[in-house]
Amino acid sequence: MNTETAAAAVLDHWIDGASASPASGTYSSGTNPATGGPTVRIAGGDPTDVDAAAAAATRAFPGWRRFSAPERGRILRRIADAIREHAETFADLEIEDTGKPRRTALAEVENSAAYFEFYAGLVNLPVGDVLDVEPGQHIYTRREPYGVIGIITPWNVPLNQAARAVAPALVTGNVVILKPAETSSQTTMLLARLSAEAGLPPGVLNVVLGSGSVVGTAIVSHPAVRKVAFTGSVQTGRTIGRIAAERIIPLTLELGGKSANVVFADADLDVAAREAVRAFSANAGQVCSAGTRLLVERPVHDAFVARVAALAGELREGEDIGPLITRTQFAQVQEYFQIAHEEGATAVIGGSVTDDPALAGGFYVKPTIYSDVDNSSRIAQEEIFGPVLVTIPFDDEADAIRLANDSEFGLIAGVFTRDIGRAFRVADSIEAGQVFINTWSTGAVQTPFGGHKNSGYGREKGIEAMLHYSHLKTVVAVY
Ligand code: ADP
Repeated sequence: MNTETAAAAVLDHWIDGASASPASGTYSSGTNPATGGPTVRIAGGDPTDVDAAAAAATRAFPGWRRFSAPERGRILRRIADAIREHAETFADLEIEDTGKPRRTALAEVENSAAYFEFYAGLVNLPVGDVLDVEPGQHIYTRREPYGVIGIITPWNVPLNQAARAVAPALVTGNVVILKPAETSSQTTMLLARLSAEAGLPPGVLNVVLGSGSVVGTAIVSHPAVRKVAFTGSVQTGRTIGRIAAERIIPLTLELGGKSANVVFADADLDVAAREAVRAFSANAGQVCSAGTRLLVERPVHDAFVARVAALAGELREGEDIGPLITRTQFAQVQEYFQIAHEEGATAVIGGSVTDDPALAGGFYVKPTIYSDVDNSSRIAQEEIFGPVLVTIPFDDEADAIRLANDSEFGLIAGVFTRDIGRAFRVADSIEAGQVFINTWSTGAVQTPFGGHKNSGYGREKGIEAMLHYSHLKTVVAVY
């Protein structure tokens, strides 16, 4: 354990460019999901801490806004460098909090650096327009920052989610109050500290730790907060949405998914099988963009599912596939095993907790596939957030599209076929924010990301995100 990890034994807030202990004086204990043992003691924030962060952010905003665009870009680039320099430390902390495999953690750290680098390069975007209306008038539009942005992130990809929202928020001239999930706050705190060392002025990025119902609610309700970006469950999205509606502030909601992966008989089935496994098992299925409904053309369904099951069976728990994040999540996935049983589903593989004695105490379940499931069943409709795949046969293109869209969610989708026309038709017809053809998902920071239907609204990532972290002003001058 290096000094940075050791220093994190007590995790305090980061407010106004410095560590700040909670007004309540209370701390909760984190849990290592790989062992069930304790990790750090995490500050229990309350509205007083949010007030302090909001005051610091409000003070910092005019100054940050006056920074020249290139100077803001240079600071973001230095943050990207600092993330890369401390990649191993970030990975250590993320592994302690989430149990994810090291190569996954390191890939996420690199991706987080890429967000800062990408947005640093876009610091002069988005540009405004000049509108030609009448002689003697000069009319132009400009995009302006909102001011204080509240960002609430979940536990599944903690550093990455923070970077994904913070980088575009900062580059467009906003200041931030960030609340990571209470179970996995360590990397966000290191990001805040390194950002300060990279030259980010005090108050521009504040982190308040604690529970969603207390700190999260206080952030969304705070009069200084002008926009909120939230990633998490549909239920919490609705709760936040009600407050935002009352306050008339804009929201980006990145919520759940039950994404369909559509495999036609003519596809390269080796590629499709490999991607189907990656789609449902990455991060132990704990990503909103997991591909958890595998729709397979009926003539190849059974053979293809056998192939997917064989590949998934090679995943080593504890090596390729990490634990579930919390005891609660562990219990929830086991509850779905029970629901599957009651619904009469057949587990081709898995359907239980791990039986590896070396992993005892950790929150591990086996990668699980239920075959030939009815799309209306609970295991096909509800987000399980574990490495659990259901397979559903379909008869033709129209049937595949109907089944893919028969879901309250619409985050991402995949289509595997060698027929390019069909690939585009299906991509056009599926209600989802992102569709992948002959591949599954991408971490590329350039690609706009967000949902249709209950998967949310607004977009993160890409140039598109900058439109959500800035608003438009029209200026009309007569001369
Ligand atoms: P998940 O199921 O992914 O944990 P949650 O929606 O419960 O999703 O949590 C995502 C983030 O939202 C976490 O940081 C959590 O603390 C926060 N959160 C939970 N409840 C609320 C709430 N009522 N208001 C604001 N934030 C909340």
